Amino acid sequence: MDSVLKAVNRVSQIAALAGDTQVGNEKGSSSLPSLARQLPKIVVVGGQSSGKSSVLEAVVGRDFLPRGTGIVTRRPLELQLETSSDKDAKEYGEFGHLPGQKFYDFEEIRKEIEEETRRHTQKRGTIVSPVPMTLRIVSPHLPALSMVDMPGITKVAIDGQPKSIVQELETMARDYVKHENVIILAVTPANADLATSDALRLAREVDPTGERTVGVLTKIDIMDPGTNCADVLNGSSYTLRNGWIGVVNRGQRDINSKMGMDQARAKELEFFREKDEYRSMKNVGTGYLSTDLSEKLISSVRRQLPNISGFLNKSIMDLNRELNALGGPAAHGRGEMVHAVLTIARKFETEFAKLIEGGKGGGELVLTVFEKRLPDAVEKQPFKKMLEVNHVKRVIEEADGIQPHLVAPEAGYRRLLEEALGFLKEPTEKSVEEVYVLLRRMVDNIANSEELSALRRYPELKRQVITSAYAALDGHREETKKMVNIMVEMERNYITAEYFRTIQMGRMPDGKVMYTLDGRPVTEEPEGSPEERHYKRIINQVSGYVREICTQMIQTVPKAIVHCMVLPAKEHLLEKLQATVAGQQETQLKRMLGEDDAVAKRRGMLTSKLDMLKQAQNELSTVDV
Ligand code: GDP
Ligand code: MG
Repeated sequence: MDSVLKAVNRVSQIAALAGDTQVGNEKGSSSLPSLARQLPKIVVVGGQSSGKSSVLEAVVGRDFLPRGTGIVTRRPLELQLETSSDKDAKEYGEFGHLPGQKFYDFEEIRKEIEEETRRHTQKRGTIVSPVPMTLRIVSPHLPALSMVDMPGITKVAIDGQPKSIVQELETMARDYVKHENVIILAVTPANADLATSDALRLAREVDPTGERTVGVLTKIDIMDPGTNCADVLNGSSYTLRNGWIGVVNRGQRDINSKMGMDQARAKELEFFREKDEYRSMKNVGTGYLSTDLSEKLISSVRRQLPNISGFLNKSIMDLNRELNALGGPAAHGRGEMVHAVLTIARKFETEFAKLIEGGKGGGELVLTVFEKRLPDAVEKQPFKKMLEVNHVKRVIEEADGIQPHLVAPEAGYRRLLEEALGFLKEPTEKSVEEVYVLLRRMVDNIANSEELSALRRYPELKRQVITSAYAALDGHREETKKMVNIMVEMERNYITAEYFRTIQMGRMPDGKVMYTLDGRPVTEEPEGSPEERHYKRIINQVSGYVREICTQMIQTVPKAIVHCMVLPAKEHLLEKLQATVAGQQETQLKRMLGEDDAVAKRRGMLTSKLDMLKQAQNELSTVDV
């Protein structure tokens, strides 16, 4: 055997051993790249009853396909031939729809094909179906080959078939033969007109150069008496790049009388030997067809080799990348486990810090709280309503008693400022809460990020990381709230006699001119009765002072939040976890690093697939192209 085919046989054996076959009975690994799908494949196409199934059987050298008149093959049958390494092993077949069930009797295989076809099409309510049935045949005598038996294509629907069937069959066949790795066996009966052969038309369409098409002429034995197909076989009537091969399969009568494969071969040989017109021809007989197909396979593989190795390289890279992301095999021993946890925790902290420092969904959002949401919330406070003349008058009278309008109501001022500045409590606390929520969300995002994909392995560690981070944030939030409340209280309480004097001058204690909340100079002389003017002056002064304090707080509260909450979070969010891990027993660590089953399984699958692809790569590297 040619070294190329040998290598490909090995590659496909490796693929089969690793459970990677074109027969898709491999559950849960569909997302893995399939090597088998890259290997060459032989697909038969031709009209109904042209002898497609018979030809395939002849190539395999076994009787197992349903044959007969009418539309017998009604679904694509994907055959995966596998060479078993044990020379004495018994041949068996295994269906994709019955994984694990080995069929040693080929008559049973034929029955199962027929029954499964019937079950499937009945369920679909159609005569034909594009859903392939898959069958592996494992034998020491078979070459590792992949072949597909197709339903026949036709120009017109016959006896009672719906019209749509014509299109359906055509599409089905085209979908199979269009791929570059497919060798097309275009089956045409010799007793029909070649010019109208659907098989040839389709082959021409998908393979215009004819490079991967093999023309097979069947039914040479039942041509009209006095006619022969020598002109086709010698290439003088219908040119195909790879030429034609003539075969004689068993006729319906032979099938009915259960003529065996060996006898059929002998009969075929005899037929060609007896006829003068064929006797000297090389390109006749099933034996020649098999040899020729091997050669075609080799050249197909040669053509496909760059693709196959490209596929192998890419798959190996992809699998390696995924494996790396999952992390190596689980850690063993206390030291290794502590190291694993600390590494993940540090990585988490680093990513968290990065996010805060500017990442979208991180630092940026915190800034919006400070620059937009806090000022807006302060502005929304009901200062205006509180600073209405009636309310102010009542507060002052309650605090200082009824006084002449010229006297400055000291206790009244104090009460009014306390009340107005009290409005700062809610929006500032809310900012703390908002930043806290953002930080929590960042924790979630990082715990689920690609960067921390290692956490996917360890659900328990992930839980603990998140809990620990939350706990740290909870602590910081309480601190920060306290801090911010104190800042508000300080402003409410620290109002001295010195303040009153300057405030009444329309200035801040540092001499800065004050403006009211709605932007007028505090010293603007109000209108109205002397009493009204008196209260309005007070209102302006209070308003001006409140405005100043609000502006200050909008600047200082963010600093407090950053200092008490954001920075500590950024610097050592998982401090506690790290501290406890160092002192933990091996059993506790084991629980923490209990690997997720799904991940462990995926790693196993990836590892074995990777091994297989690497072996295949080695195998192919020994082939000279
Ligand atoms: P398919 O529908 O294309 O798969 O064709 P089958 O392989 O099922 O064959 C259809 C019918 O043609 C069966 O009755 C076969 O026995 C018969 N047949 C196929 N090839 C030959 C052949 O070379 N000579 C004769 N005499 N009959 C054949
Ligand atoms: Mg058939």
